[in-house]
Amino acid sequence: MPKPKRRLGQALQRGLRGRCPACGKGRLLRNYLTPNTTCGACGEDFSRYQAADFAPYLVTFLVGMIFTPLTLVLSTHANDFTLPILLLAALASAILLLPPIKGAALGLLWAVNETN
Ligand SMILES: [Zn+2]
Repeated sequence: MPKPKRRLGQALQRGLRGRCPACGKGRLLRNYLTPNTTCGACGEDFSRYQAADFAPYLVTFLVGMIFTPLTLVLSTHANDFTLPILLLAALASAILLLPPIKGAALGLLWAVNETN
């Protein structure tokens, strides 16, 4: 019996929420960024999906695309607190974006791997 086709959009959504791309129930990450080896709900094997540095690259790109123009625009009206606040906001954004982006990267790898 053939397995159902893996849907990319659904896998990305589940990965963004930190859930197993196969069933949507089990947790994908066990610590901040450490992927579980298997899904606790359906037993899907995650050990062969290595996202490496894709998530940090993407987060750096996104945070840079948002905060660089914002900093340039606001720097014309800056007071002493503007740039430190923007720096903290950029740092907080990067920290908060890393787990969902890592989950989405793992969901992407899972979706494009049709071998199992
Ligand atoms: Zn699962």
